[in-house]
Amino acid sequence: MAGTGKAHLRTEGDVLLRVEDLVVEFPVGRTGLKVNAVSGISLDVLRGETLGVVGESGCGKSTTGRAIMQLPRPTSGSVLFEGRQLTDMSGDDMREARTRMQMIFQDPISSLNPRRKVRDIVTEPLAIWKRGNSTEQRAKVDALLEEVGIDPQRAAESQPHQFSGGQCQRISIARSLVLEPTLIICDEPVSALDVSVQAQVLNLLEDLKAKHGLTLIFIAHDLAVVKNISDRVAVMYLGKICEVAPSDDLYRAPAHHYTSVLLDSIPVPDPSVAATKTAIEGEPPSPVLPPPGCRFHTRCPAATDVCRNEEPKLREIATAHFVACHHPLYGDDVPVSVA
Ligand code: SF4
Repeated sequence: MAGTGKAHLRTEGDVLLRVEDLVVEFPVGRTGLKVNAVSGISLDVLRGETLGVVGESGCGKSTTGRAIMQLPRPTSGSVLFEGRQLTDMSGDDMREARTRMQMIFQDPISSLNPRRKVRDIVTEPLAIWKRGNSTEQRAKVDALLEEVGIDPQRAAESQPHQFSGGQCQRISIARSLVLEPTLIICDEPVSALDVSVQAQVLNLLEDLKAKHGLTLIFIAHDLAVVKNISDRVAVMYLGKICEVAPSDDLYRAPAHHYTSVLLDSIPVPDPSVAATKTAIEGEPPSPVLPPPGCRFHTRCPAATDVCRNEEPKLREIATAHFVACHHPLYGDDVPVSVA
């Protein structure tokens, strides 16, 4: 699935974010080698849309989110946000642009300053950017805290460790909203939470998205979590995008072998359902020396010579459904032997 190409980028609609040929590499000490964390991916997000980005740990999805924020700046590629190119922006302009795009992290407790009171943590961005006087800042913060289900009075008196993990994620969400961003990148925002709390936080994000007119990028390793919240889903493997489709289409008819295995790995909470699922074999190859051709060929049951030698390009196999695979599971040109 190591796919490449830009066939899935849209030319119509209100595109808020357009990423092209994004590359992020990290040097391996002084060996001259490099970790190919993200290898030339392209994606776009329309205003008001939620893009889910899924894949195994180490596939480059979180690095992609940070590279969009220019934290750190990518090795190469283009990141166009609200019509402005972020990759060559100066430090001051970039800091200002980051007020319009915020991030929520996996570990809510460690993302909050443990020494400060919660209300002060949420107020800090307003104070730094001098948005309103102290009375206006307090009114805005208290309203936001109430909106995310946190008692403002308790927030004024308590530090983050006095709240549960789910409450800390609500506080992180309030802090991310206080500067009125248009885009929020949610990096595994519910992975560290109990299942019952996960559902509450997902519902809260959906409500806030509608109320504040937000656009979301929702990064997760769990397709079950991404399914309901996303309009469109991009599947990543070893630094590449292998499949992009509207959420319902991807779950109903995955075309890439890796997507299919990921979907099969979602547990079914019913003991009467027979275990007929396909398991993925082996570990992902090292991103220091990724395999040639399709990067998934070392683990793919349908791999052939062309997969080992030629990198598949993303192509449309149904309306708005793109896959980078020489032998997709679904589409008009599926060979009978593979299907
Ligand atoms: Fe990659 Fe080939 Fe498998 Fe498709 S069939 S996922 S191109 S190895």
